[in-house]
Formats: sequence, structure tokens, C-alpha cells
Amino acid sequence: MGAIIVRILLLAMVVWVIRYVLMSIQGLGKGNSKKKPAEETGVMVKDPVCGMYMDPRLAVRMDGRGKPLYFCSEECKSKYLAYKKTDN
Ligand SMILES: [Zn+2]
Repeated sequence: MGAIIVRILLLAMVVWVIRYVLMSIQGLGKGNSKKKPAEETGVMVKDPVCGMYMDPRLAVRMDGRGKPLYFCSEECKSKYLAYKKTDN
């Protein structure tokens, strides 16, 4: 009888380990596929007017078509808006 209990316990342990491994793999996959906004990742963003790279948290943000635009200053933002007007 004792041998059967040991086998069941071993099987339960193996199942638990497999489940744990699968869960950690899924967790890692989720972390990689999830895209975070530039503000959270700390990735440098480019000013489309002067071409300067900066921290998005310090930049002047403007919501463009679908994606946010970042400017180093209000001056560059107004320049960008002026260019857009002349294009149309
Ligand atoms: Zn600029």
C-alpha cells in the first residue's frame, strides 16, 4: 500500500512541476508580445522637426494619426503644425 501512495505523490509532483514550467513560459511570452507606450519603456523618441532624440517623458507630446508625436519644444511643435498646413 505504501508504494502506491509514494507513486501518487511523485505523479502529483511531476504534474505540478510541468504546470509551473508551462505557466512561467506563458508568462514570459505575454511579457514580450505586449507593446508598451514609449513613456513606459524609456526608449528615446525623435523630434520630426529638428531630428533630436529625447526622453518621451520630457518631450512635448501631440497625438498624430494613430501614433503620438514628440517634440523637444513648443517651438518645434508649432513649426510642425505650420508645415502640415502648407502641405495641404
Ligand atoms: Zn525640436
